[in-house]
Amino acid sequence: MAQDTISHFSHPGHELVKRHYLSPYLCDMCWEDLSGSGYGCGARCDFGIHESCAARPLKLSSPAHHAHELVLVQTRRDEELACDVCVGGCAPGSFLYRCPPCGFDMHPRCAQLPQTAVYSSLHSEHDLTLVLAEGSCAACQGQDGAPAPGRGWFYRCSACNVDLHVSCASAGDGEEAESNHVTPGDVLAGVAAVHNNIQVAQALARLRVQGGQSVAALARPSYIKERTKYF
Ligand SMILES: [Zn+2]
Ligand SMILES: [Zn+2]
Ligand SMILES: [Zn+2]
Ligand SMILES: [Zn+2]
Ligand SMILES: [Zn+2]
Ligand SMILES: [Zn+2]
Repeated sequence: MAQDTISHFSHPGHELVKRHYLSPYLCDMCWEDLSGSGYGCGARCDFGIHESCAARPLKLSSPAHHAHELVLVQTRRDEELACDVCVGGCAPGSFLYRCPPCGFDMHPRCAQLPQTAVYSSLHSEHDLTLVLAEGSCAACQGQDGAPAPGRGWFYRCSACNVDLHVSCASAGDGEEAESNHVTPGDVLAGVAAVHNNIQVAQALARLRVQGGQSVAALARPSYIKERTKYF
């Protein structure tokens, strides 16, 4: 059973206390909607994380994603980063699994992307496997704004030589997958939520600048987060 009070590396110096959250709050670790069981700062800082995020390991070995051990780190609030696996945006100040020497970053959630026996309705004939390779996405290739073919993460069918972006493979998830298959859709839905939350924060920041208020106030780290929480 989870403890009621914990010390956690994500918020050094203060104990975290178990709470039940109701929306709208954002988890300070993954930037997804925080509702249900979580841990908040016992010293009343504006800090709260999912119970599941509190359980994430500080160090992660995930050879399918990256050859080296990854460390869960908080990104700077002035950094604009993209996840190297799904290419989705990473919220400034959120936590990522990182390999510092390689500059590899990954959403905590993307560590949970299914790697083998993956089903996508866009290529339902065969199971797909997560690969980092030169590829060209069969779903979005040639479309306006689609990424150019090149090195990246794909769900691949080696038998047919078909590659799908991680995000594109999950977009076709409308059909029911057979029960013995996993789909990346649930994981990517969470990543999309993060992206949405980043856009809200950026829109608020722009509004503030347009309103003629000082940009210095913007640099105060808690501002964007607080406004987003009560938006
Ligand atoms: Zn979280
Ligand atoms: Zn605190
Ligand atoms: Zn990701
Ligand atoms: Zn590395
Ligand atoms: Zn694609
Ligand atoms: Zn195939």
